[in-house]
Amino acid sequence: MASKIKNSASFGPSLRLGVLGGGQLGRMMIQSAVDFDARVEVMDPSPDAPCRFLTHRFVQGDLNDADAVEKFGSGLDCLTIEIENVSVEGLRRLEAQGVRVIPKPDHLAIIQDKGLQKQFFADHGIPTSPFQLIADANEVGAMGFPIVQKMRKGGYDGKGVKVLKNVADASKAFQSPSLLEKAVRIHKELSVIVARNSMGETQCFPVVEAVFDPVANLVDYLIAPADISIEEAQTAERIVIQVAECMEFEGLLAVELFLDTEGHIVVNEVAPRTHNSGHHTIEANITSQFEQHLRTVLDLPLGSTAPVHPVGAMVNVVGAADARGLPDYRGIDAALATEGVHPHLYGKSQVKPFRKMGHVTITGETRQEVIERMMRIREQLAVEGKPTPTE
Ligand code: ADP
Repeated sequence: MASKIKNSASFGPSLRLGVLGGGQLGRMMIQSAVDFDARVEVMDPSPDAPCRFLTHRFVQGDLNDADAVEKFGSGLDCLTIEIENVSVEGLRRLEAQGVRVIPKPDHLAIIQDKGLQKQFFADHGIPTSPFQLIADANEVGAMGFPIVQKMRKGGYDGKGVKVLKNVADASKAFQSPSLLEKAVRIHKELSVIVARNSMGETQCFPVVEAVFDPVANLVDYLIAPADISIEEAQTAERIVIQVAECMEFEGLLAVELFLDTEGHIVVNEVAPRTHNSGHHTIEANITSQFEQHLRTVLDLPLGSTAPVHPVGAMVNVVGAADARGLPDYRGIDAALATEGVHPHLYGKSQVKPFRKMGHVTITGETRQEVIERMMRIREQLAVEGKPTPTE
């Protein structure tokens, strides 16, 4: 059966697009999908996923269950993901049935395993830190110290990553099969989101910089363009396109990079989907990462990634340290009263301490102006908890 995707005349009610995962990334993609009249069907394990009430069909199910994924996706025209921890076997079966699956299951299989991913970089001459794969914690000293140990599968948002500074730290090592990496002396953490379509055309978004809070050791905010030289930005973009081309990747690929203290740029890891480091693109670029992702999934021409504001930044809105219950948002009015500021709340039904509840985008003319606005707003923004009313 010929795919309907090639024929844009079949947009609208007859086109069925599925997404595995119904969190905030899916939610922001749905906002773009509305403009294309692409009707989105979602599967997520949680009955109150942020996409729950915004979809044409919601299925509650285990994303790692091949049968459940196959059942959800059968009959769809195309299927994508908003989280990489899904059943590759289920996706392979759907692809065999003629469903257009983006990213490709083979790419997902490599990316889901940090060991295979790193080996792929090494095999294709992509700059990355030296590494070794180990079967369990007994081998954790194989490369000496300091090292970074990463569980091969299942880690996210820094969970599954441990910095082991010396032999004494070896007792803290993960037991599971893991990847050991030489600790990079990081000057800046960067990321570039690239789209690559079925014709092999690529488009990169401007380089983003993650600015860390040295006290909390957490990402404080993300800002684009990164404060690096033109040559460094060009090198970053060249490496990212090299990754996408070596993989023959199709879809949206977020590439995390390190700029080390000696000026070298190396790849840390990739994610085959929309990414935290691209949220500002909704307001800051001609085409957002969410629309660009959809364009690749539906096999449409790629959109321009040119900035519409010289600087764009993003800061997370997280639950207060003691927040529990229904979210109670504070300071949104102050944010809305500030020029260039856009809140995006994720529709989570419950707040928990430090849970990501939304983000705020700040755009402006200069880096300094944007950072000042952000600092001011951040002092006022908070998510407290309030009791759930009893019925
Ligand atoms: P996750 O996929 O869970 O986000 P990452 O691989 O991105 O895990 O690692 C999380 C953080 O750990 C990175 O943002 C970086 O600050 C640090 N890190 C990871 N690898 C290295 C390394 N080789 N050297 C130094 N720091 C690292």
